[in-house]
Amino acid sequence: MSKKYIFVVGGVMSSVGKGIATASIGTILKSKGFRVTALKADPYVNVDAGTMNPTEHGEVFVTKDGDECDQDMGNYERFLGEDLTKMNYMTTGRIYQAVINQERNLKYDGKCVQVVPHVPEEIISRINASVKGTKSEIAIIEIGGTVGEYENLLFLEAARMMKLKNPKDVVFVLVSYLPIPAKVGEMKTKPTQHASRELNSCGIQADFILCRAENPIDERRREKLATFCSIDPENAISAPDVDCIYDIPVNFENEHFGQKILKKLGLRPRQKDLVEWRQFVSLAKSAKKEINIGIVGKYFETGNYVLSDSYISVIESVKIAAWTQGFSPKMVWLSSDEYETNPAKLKELSQLDGVIVPGGFGSRGIEGKISVAKYCRENKIPYFGLCYGMQIATIEFARNVCKLKDAHTEEINPETPYPVIHIMPEQKSKLRHKDYGGSMRLGEYACQLQKGTKADAAYRNSNFPISDDNIILERHRHRYEVNNDYREQLEKCGLVVAGVNPERDLVEIIEIKDHPFMIGTQFHPEFDSRPLRPQPLFKAFIKAAGKRHSSS
Ligand code: GLN
Repeated sequence: MSKKYIFVVGGVMSSVGKGIATASIGTILKSKGFRVTALKADPYVNVDAGTMNPTEHGEVFVTKDGDECDQDMGNYERFLGEDLTKMNYMTTGRIYQAVINQERNLKYDGKCVQVVPHVPEEIISRINASVKGTKSEIAIIEIGGTVGEYENLLFLEAARMMKLKNPKDVVFVLVSYLPIPAKVGEMKTKPTQHASRELNSCGIQADFILCRAENPIDERRREKLATFCSIDPENAISAPDVDCIYDIPVNFENEHFGQKILKKLGLRPRQKDLVEWRQFVSLAKSAKKEINIGIVGKYFETGNYVLSDSYISVIESVKIAAWTQGFSPKMVWLSSDEYETNPAKLKELSQLDGVIVPGGFGSRGIEGKISVAKYCRENKIPYFGLCYGMQIATIEFARNVCKLKDAHTEEINPETPYPVIHIMPEQKSKLRHKDYGGSMRLGEYACQLQKGTKADAAYRNSNFPISDDNIILERHRHRYEVNNDYREQLEKCGLVVAGVNPERDLVEIIEIKDHPFMIGTQFHPEFDSRPLRPQPLFKAFIKAAGKRHSSS
């Protein structure tokens, strides 16, 4: 069969769940027996998401081949249960960079290089490359932003050109928002009509309108959208708000959305669908055992609002690991700075069943995080440190157990007498040359698990891939690492090195002896959690938290 393309574009406003819609379309088509991949086209000029502050743009997700990209890529991986790569992600910056490099390399044979057609052509060649020569049969491409914006016009132009060339292989889904103004009390279709017309002005006709709203859409509104947006009434798909995002593929299926898309593409379902997914959703619904998990960070606040998007993969990993073991997690956001100004606040940690210190950068809040690690170690509260959280646990252990006063990471204090966390040699020259973008130790690297450790047991009791010589692959994003000069001293005091990168002898996992669960990873296990394959260390952490809850 020819490769098929589904474009997902947004109307009316942002944050209506285009990413989850894209991911959910992937889930349902995959469950019908098709090999599906998903792409994100982001309109911003940054080459990738790596240089952006998480409060600007949410989490920076990392693919196994080391691309720093939009958090939606994490949703795609979780919903599709597939690893994606650099090929699945593009930004305006990346496209322009490629076009300019090609021009410099005489790839355009002396032609005048123009925004149109050369930029959309570069976009099209990337979309095609993501499926060409691969097993993927269907690519779902989410175009970031909203129709009517100047920024994403060239992506829409590329989509229009693809439709023109292969009309039977390309389908458009407009994800729109239908407000129900409180004072009016009625669902309004007019903004969506405008969005649809705006899309028409780009030469694109939506095949489906995904009607995001507080409530399901009724027949009257379906008819209105059909008339004014030129779609079949049955192709106005109801997409009301949900409590749990993992319900969305199931809801789409209640509307026969998958079947309708396949019909438009001239395809038929190949197998019975969503069996395992439905099992997962019902596990999530029936999970009742309460646990309280604290997440200590500093990327929560944006203006007067608190945004948990910066830690989305951590949050989803907790939920997945909890639900699949019958626990219903209650998560609280703890601001690391507050423990610095008000150390008495640390006592609140006793109310929790487990604490996560996720990845981070820079000095703000670091002493607060170090005191959290100390409190959790001394009070035997399950502690899970992810990247920075692992480095912090090591610093705390060095200071307070090994008595290395003022031990620190070179990231914060390059003059520390005990640099227990130091910069990796190749990173030093990168920083000196201000080579910041895409230059950390990124993506998947090997970690050899040490037999007899808690981490080893966690991976062994899971369906996570693990090689005969006990090697797992996990994703990284860091410049600093445990300083091997201090390893022996740390180990003597009771720190266990539970995983090591065999090529470079880098510490990948640490554990604290005689503690119910105090584990830190240099890698980011949160990027590898899938509803149908919970991450083993998250599972073990939740199990420890559950034990603490039932014994308290
Ligand atoms: N700032 C630390 C480093 O660069 C940790 C990075 C992270 O948590 N992702 O090594």
